[in-house]
Amino acid sequence: MYDVVVVGGGPSGATAAEDLARAGKTVAMIDRDGRIKPCGGAIPPRLITDFDIPDAQIVARVNTARMISPTQRKVDIPIENGFVGMVDREHFDEFLRGRAKASGAHRYTGTFLRIDRDADGTHVIYRDKISGNEQRLSTKLVIGADGARSKVGAAEVPGGDTIPYVIAYHEIIEAPAANENYDPLRCDVVYDGAISPDFYGWVFPHGAQCSVGMGTEVSDVDLKDATAKLRAASGLADCKTIRKEGAPIPLKPLDRWDNGKDVILAGDAAGVVAPSSGEGIYYAMVGGRVAAEACLACLASNNVRDLQLARKAFMKEHKMVFKVLRSMQDAYYKSDERRERFVSLCHDVDVQRLTFEAYMNKKLVKARPMAHLKIGIKNLAHLTRLVRPHHV
Ligand SMILES: Cc1cc2nc3c(=O)[nH]c(=O)nc-3n(C[C@H](O)[C@H](O)[C@H](O)COP(=O)(O)OP(=O)(O)OC[C@H]3O[C@@H](n4cnc5c(N)ncnc54)[C@H](O)[C@@H]3O)c2cc1C
Repeated sequence: MYDVVVVGGGPSGATAAEDLARAGKTVAMIDRDGRIKPCGGAIPPRLITDFDIPDAQIVARVNTARMISPTQRKVDIPIENGFVGMVDREHFDEFLRGRAKASGAHRYTGTFLRIDRDADGTHVIYRDKISGNEQRLSTKLVIGADGARSKVGAAEVPGGDTIPYVIAYHEIIEAPAANENYDPLRCDVVYDGAISPDFYGWVFPHGAQCSVGMGTEVSDVDLKDATAKLRAASGLADCKTIRKEGAPIPLKPLDRWDNGKDVILAGDAAGVVAPSSGEGIYYAMVGGRVAAEACLACLASNNVRDLQLARKAFMKEHKMVFKVLRSMQDAYYKSDERRERFVSLCHDVDVQRLTFEAYMNKKLVKARPMAHLKIGIKNLAHLTRLVRPHHV
C-alpha cells in the first residue's frame, strides 16, 4: 500500500514524487515513457533556483527577447540581471525522474488505465510497458500529473475533460551559425496573424538545436504551413529538421483540482499554464510541489478537505499574474492592429521591466511609483486607439 501514486513523470509528477519521497512517504511514479514532450523548453531563473536545476541541464542562456510585430517591426528587450534558461525536455524530464527515484520514489514504466476502488481501498491500474500486463498499485492517494488531456482528470475531477486548449506545434531544427537573422542567445516572439491568428510564433535557441513553432486555438489553421512561413521569415527554411511535433497547451486552471476523495491533479492536468505566454514548466513544478504538500497534510490529518490546500496555495501566489496575462491575451491577441500596438507598448522600459520581472522571478514588483499608472494609461490609450502604434 503506497501513501501516494503519482501518474505522470513530467516536471509536475517528478517534482511531486521527489518531494513526497524526501518527506519519507512511500510513493510510486508511473510514466509511459518513450515520447519526448513537445516543448520550447524556456525556463525562468526562479525555476532554476527553487528546484535546484544543475548548470548541465541548461543548453542556452538567453540574454535578449525580440518582439516582432505584423509589419516586421522588432523590439529587442535586454534581459537584465539574469537569463532565460533553455532545457531539452528529452534530458530534463529524465533528469527529474531520476532524481525522484534517487530520493526514494518507486518508478514504474507503463500506461495508466484507470482507478478502481473496492473494500480494500483505491487501486491504480496501469499497463506495464515490458510485459504488456495490467498491474495494480494500491494507494491512499493519487496525484494525476499526466499532462494536458489528462486521463486521470477526465475520469475523476469535474471539468477535467473540458479544459480549453491552444494546439502548439514546433519543429526542432539544427541551429545555424549566428548570422544577421539568428542569434543563439536571443528568443524571438512573433506576433503576426499570418503565423497565428490568436497566439504567437517563436524561435527559441537550444545550443546546437532550435525550436521554431506556433500555437493557436483556431481549429482550421494549418500548423505546418504556418511554421513553414515562420521558418522562411526567420531565415531558417534550409536548416535540417530533426523532429516535428505538436501538443495541446491548456489555457485555464480548473476551479477544483481534487475529487474530494483520494485524487488531486497537478500541472497541465489541472489546466495550469500561464495565458499569453503558454509558460507551463515552472507552474507544473509548483503544482507538483503544492500537490505533494496537500497530500502530506491530508495523510497527517486524515481529512480529505486538506487536498484543497494545493489550489489555495498556488492561487495565493500566482492568481494575479494569471489574471493580468489573461486580460493581456484577451486584449491584444485579437487582430494585427492590436498586435502592432502590443509590440509598440514593449518599447516602454517600464513595461519591459515589469513583464520581465514577473517572468523571471514570478513576482509583480513594485515599480517606480508612477510606472504602473503610466503603463495603465498607455494601455488604455492603445486599446481605445487614442494613440497610433510607434513606427521606428
Ligand atoms: C509546443 C509547446 C511548446 C511549449 N513551450 C514551453 C516553453 O518554452 N516554456 C514553458 O514553460 N512551457 C512550455 N510549454 C508548456 C509545457 O510544456 C507544459 O506546461 C509542461 O510540460 C507541463 O508539465 P506536466 O508535468 O504537467 O505535463 P507533461 O510535461 O505533459 O508530463 C506528463 C507526463 O505524463 C505522462 N503520461 C501522460 N499520460 C500518461 C498515461 N496515460 N500513463 C502514464 N503516463 C502518462 C507523459 O509521458 C509525461 O511524461 C510548451 C508546450 C508545447 C506543447
